[in-house]
Amino acid sequence: MQYEAPETTKAAVSLLAAAKGSAYVLAGGSDLLVRMKGGFIEPDLVVDIKRIKPMREVKKTANGFVVGAAVSCAELGENKALVKAWPGVVEAANLIGSKQVQGRCTMAGNLCNASPAADSVPALVAAGAKAVVQGPKGKRSVPVEQIPVGPGKTSLKRGELIESLVLPARKPRSGDAYLRFIPRSEMDIAVVSAGVNLTLDAKGVITEARVALGAVAPTVLLVAAAARAIIGTRLDDAALEKLGQAASAACRPIDDKRGTVEFRTKVAAVLAKRAAKIAYSRAGGK
Ligand SMILES: Cc1cc2nc3c(=O)[nH]c(=O)nc-3n(C[C@H](O)[C@H](O)[C@H](O)COP(=O)(O)OP(=O)(O)OC[C@H]3O[C@@H](n4cnc5c(N)ncnc54)[C@H](O)[C@@H]3O)c2cc1C
Repeated sequence: MQYEAPETTKAAVSLLAAAKGSAYVLAGGSDLLVRMKGGFIEPDLVVDIKRIKPMREVKKTANGFVVGAAVSCAELGENKALVKAWPGVVEAANLIGSKQVQGRCTMAGNLCNASPAADSVPALVAAGAKAVVQGPKGKRSVPVEQIPVGPGKTSLKRGELIESLVLPARKPRSGDAYLRFIPRSEMDIAVVSAGVNLTLDAKGVITEARVALGAVAPTVLLVAAAARAIIGTRLDDAALEKLGQAASAACRPIDDKRGTVEFRTKVAAVLAKRAAKIAYSRAGGK
């Protein structure tokens, strides 16, 4: 196995594109190293991106926050401006594993590992985040929901990697939230999860919303019907009821030892409603 730690994105892309055999990006390694140790994969090439300086930075620009692909989830929690603008995204990233895991793991790695239960992904999808993908053919910007295409599979082509995740500039009176259900208090995989992001007008009426659900389908779902159910409302009981119904209707979960289809479908509604209430209050709604 060859290990490389290039200092530029261009060099990382060249290495990945020229690789003979299987090539993997290494960010925090909290998924990759576990899979290697378990013998599930045996990479011919590992490209560590942590020495690429722009990938280690969070930048605030006129268009929002650019989160480098190698920024750890712990670093996100220490960025006050990011926490203020996107509390739901940061709380999702800070639910991953333990303090030790958070010191290593990244949101881009969470996204590219392509688990339907990945914690940061519903929050990123609800936020309308874009992945900046660099590859042999240049750069493209992709909505995060289009990166995972099935459990463990992404839409990234050979030689491509995610350079950064871009969270859009915040409009006034906006808020987001992420909630997951796990049977323990931490260190577990989401049985169901929900991310909600919304914007209000001056009267507290929701003008924009995005609702995403995790662990209820092969990939994280962006549920347009759930967003429609609350747009134009002040999140009254009738709107919440419709939101819950739309969330449950979108679920296509599996039965497994961690949760049944029936349980996941029901809890998706509960979490979507609770996350919407938190997001509404964070946006200044009363
Ligand atoms: C003890 C433990 C607890 C965990 N708990 C949780 C949890 O509660 N919730 C949760 O969602 N996950 C959990 N995980 C899984 C893991 O920590 C997360 O998925 C994490 O965000 C992965 O990030 P990473 O930087 O470590 O990724 P890595 O392991 O470095 O990479 C993961 C995958 O993505 C690819 N990749 C990484 N970065 C890029 C990039 N920039 N461009 C293209 N491909 C890339 C890698 O090649 C690899 O295939 C846990 C893992 C452990 C070991």
